[in-house]
Formats: sequence, structure tokens, C-alpha cells
Amino acid sequence: MKFMTEAIAHAYIGGAWQMAAGDKEFAVKNPATGETITQVSDCGAPEVQSAVDLAKRAFEDWSQIPAKQRAERLHRVATLMRARDEELAEIIVLESGKPMREAIGEIRYGASYFQWFAEEAVRAYGDVIPSGSGTSRFIVTKHAIGVCALITPWNFPSAMLARKTAAALAAGCTVVAKPAEDTPLSALALAEILEDAGLPSGVFNVIPSSLRSEMGDWLTSHPDIKKISFTGSTPVGRILFKQSADTLKKLSLELGGNAPFIVFDDADLDAAIEGLMASKFRNAGQTCVCTNRVFVHRSIEDAFADKLAKRVENLNLGEGQNPETDIGPLINRSALEKVSSLVTSALSERAELVTGGTVSPLGGLYYLPTILKNVSTDMKIAREEIFGPVVTLIPFDDDEECIAKANDTEFGLAAYLYTESGKRSWNVSERLDYGMIGINEGAISNPEVPFGGVKQSGQGREGSKYGLDDYMEIKFRLFGGL
Ligand code: NAP
Repeated sequence: MKFMTEAIAHAYIGGAWQMAAGDKEFAVKNPATGETITQVSDCGAPEVQSAVDLAKRAFEDWSQIPAKQRAERLHRVATLMRARDEELAEIIVLESGKPMREAIGEIRYGASYFQWFAEEAVRAYGDVIPSGSGTSRFIVTKHAIGVCALITPWNFPSAMLARKTAAALAAGCTVVAKPAEDTPLSALALAEILEDAGLPSGVFNVIPSSLRSEMGDWLTSHPDIKKISFTGSTPVGRILFKQSADTLKKLSLELGGNAPFIVFDDADLDAAIEGLMASKFRNAGQTCVCTNRVFVHRSIEDAFADKLAKRVENLNLGEGQNPETDIGPLINRSALEKVSSLVTSALSERAELVTGGTVSPLGGLYYLPTILKNVSTDMKIAREEIFGPVVTLIPFDDDEECIAKANDTEFGLAAYLYTESGKRSWNVSERLDYGMIGINEGAISNPEVPFGGVKQSGQGREGSKYGLDDYMEIKFRLFGGL
């Protein structure tokens, strides 16, 4: 990659790779080894200003070219990402620590959004509304909103940005992206892919920075930024929501979750365990749609725990480059401390340890895949996002109790349920207060479907036919005197 051949990975502004003012930089570390991978330009207010100015200028042309031409470029992005998936995945592995297999999956997942939104770009239909009078006509059209600031987290450093960027560019918007401090390299790699796909300069800009709260301030208060799309924690989402009030920005917020995974007594236990493994242990449990609380019918709790323990104890911890690795390190020291303290606190109450329960003998940022039994919903571990490889089993006796407990959280992102009863799957899923529900399935995210949450898990949807609207404004015109 061009940016990787330099000693410092530069910001990407207006189609040029640039140092930050004063040559400021910060180090990006490999969480598997603690070693510095590279230095990255540490952007501040001058880079925000120039990126927004250039994105605003680029918007004039990009929003006006035929959607078909935008679609062609986005198709090219998808093709390039797929062609270079291993190279891009290696960057994810280096900076985030996830296993290579998952990193390749992340690149392909991101590419699927470029393909999807290339196909949606040409379908941004408006409406002709029947007029009440013979002398007028009502026309509704959709228009790109303008420059969008995209703020993304470290857990899917490529895909979270790809999912937003694909929709924004398809709509005709231009982008200023602020990736997570821990993982800016995948965002810069995406910039290079977009450049190679022929995107005009200024349409996509990346400004890495260690100044998280100042960046939030500058981006939310900038009058030329018309929309903020944020993926990250609920507390930061709330800050950005408040900060965006003065400039009344359009906002998309993809925030935290506390997903219930319900196993009824009529469930296919093997299928439920497969689903749970997929939902819980991807990225070492560091995903927003990760199962956080497993509700198991009391009559099958022990059988379920025993079967699950056999699978969990066979998971391999290690560096992402090793093809045998299932679970990588956690992202940083504070993540490890949070997971440790949640487990310790649960064990000091009534929870029982089935397996794991401590940092791995590998040391560093590795935490052993863990199962806790006899957890209850009032424990801290069941109320907060664990963001680590820890399963909490919570027994329940009947459907009503389980639905009430599953909904008893401020979050509403993803939920999962396993039952062989069609009636139960319909009735329970209808009453679960979540934006996304997997029924007899633990992996639910696809470009065709709306990704997003309710309650404190955010607002707006990414992907699907709804995803484009988040980057568009509606204009109504009345033609009178006809
Ligand atoms: P985070 O701390 O909220 O950070 C997310 C992004 O916001 C990073 O780029 C971060 O920069 C930046 N940031 C932090 N404080 C800020 C501030 N005051 N103003 C402006 N920007 C600020 O979240 P995270 O720990 O990286 O990611 C994990 C969280 O993301 C979890 O809660 C997870 O559930 C959620 N998530 C949600 C989805 C979804 O689609 N709903 C998907 C993935 C993750 P720095 O990196 O420099 O701190």
C-alpha cells in the first residue's frame, strides 16, 4: 500500500497523502505484541478545515454526476477490495489483533456494501403525488445531503467505514472520515482503494487523530458538515448528539448493545450452540451485536453449559496471523481490565465458573474464553456490554419472565432466540424490543438488511434499501398554474 511504504502513514486529504501540521504523529500498536506498527499523522483543526473545504468543493461535481457513474466507481471499489482482500486483511490483523479468517471476512463484508450501494445508487427514486387540483402537480425528489463526517470504532476498522462510505458516496455525498486511534490504518488503506477505483480527489478524506473529543467538537460544530454518522459507544453517541444540536445536523448513531440470546427448552441445542459460538466469540467477543446475556431454560441449563464448555475449551488463542487462531487479544489494556473486573465482580456474587475466568497464560492482552453459570440480570456483567469472550448463562422458567428480562436493558440492538416452535418464534420475536433479531441464527448482518438499533442503541439504519435515505434529503416541488 502506498501509505504503508512510508515511515509515517499520512492523512489523506483532497486526494493527497499529507503530514499533519507541525509533523504531529501518534503510534499505532499491534495488540498481539505491543509493538509499534507505524507512526500516523495526528490531525487537528487545520486538517479538519482543509478536509471539509475540499470535500465541500468535491461535492459540487460528485453530487451532480449521473448516479450510474457513481455506481460504476463503487462497483470498482468492491472488485478491488475483493482482489486485494488478503493484503487489506493483514492490516486489520496487525492493528486490531483479530484472526486472519475473520479479517478476510470483514473485507468481503465491506466490499458487499460497496456492491449493494452501487446497485442502490441508481434507485434513489422520488414520487409523483396525485394533486388535489387540476392546475398543480406534486413532485418529490431525493438529493445528497452534503459533506458527511464519519466517526468509526476499532472493532471493525475497515467494515464500519465501508458500510457508511458506500451509502454516502452512492447518495452523492462526500466524506471526511475520523477512524479510531487504535486502528487508523485500515481507513487509510480504504482511501487508497477508493483512489485506485478512480474516485475524484476530495470525495473521500481520512483524518486520523488522537484528539478524540476535540475532533468531535470540530466536526459537530462545523457549518459545512451536514451529517454525522457515528459508530461507537452509547456515551460518546450522546455527546455527539448534544454537540450537533447547534448546527442541527442529521445524525446516524450505531451504538452499543446488550444482546440477549434465548434458548428455549424446545430448541435444537446443537444449532443453538453453533449460533452462540458465532455470535459470541467473533472478534474475541468485541462486536456490537455480540451476545451479552444467554437466557437458558432452567431445565436445560446444565446440559447446555456442558456442551458449550466442550466447544469453548477447544478455542485456540493466539496471534491473528496463525491460521489455527480462533481468538485474538483484546484491543488494549483498559478493555482487558474491564472484562476481568466484570467477571471478578460476577463471581463475587452468585455466579459460578464453568471454564476460563482469568487472563490467559499467554499474557499480554489475551483473556481466556469464559463461561459463567447462574448469572442474574441485576449483576453488572448482565447490565453492561462485556466486549470480551465471556458467556453469561442466566436461567429462566417461562416465556413471560424471559421476555421481560431480555427487554430490561437500555439497549436495543440485536437479539437471538432458538426454538423449534414457529408460534413461539413469531410471538416472542414480536415482543422483543430490538432493531435486529436472529431466529435460529447467530449471524445476522448482510448488506440487504437494515442494520441498527432502537432505544439507547442508536438511530438510523445502515445497509438495505433504507440505508441510502440516511444520506439524502427530500425535496418537494409544487408546479402550479398548469
Ligand atoms: P468509542 O469509544 O465510542 O469510540 C468510537 C469512535 O469515536 C472512535 O473513533 C473514537 O476515537 C471516537 N471518540 C471517542 N470519544 C469521542 C468524543 N468525545 N468525541 C468524538 N469522537 C470520539 O467506541 P469504541 O470503544 O471504539 O467501540 C466500541 C463501541 O462501539 C461498543 O459500544 C460497540 O457496541 C459499539 N459499536 C456499535 C456498532 C453498531 O453498529 N451499533 C458497531 C461496532 C461497534 P478514539 O479511538 O480516538 O477513542
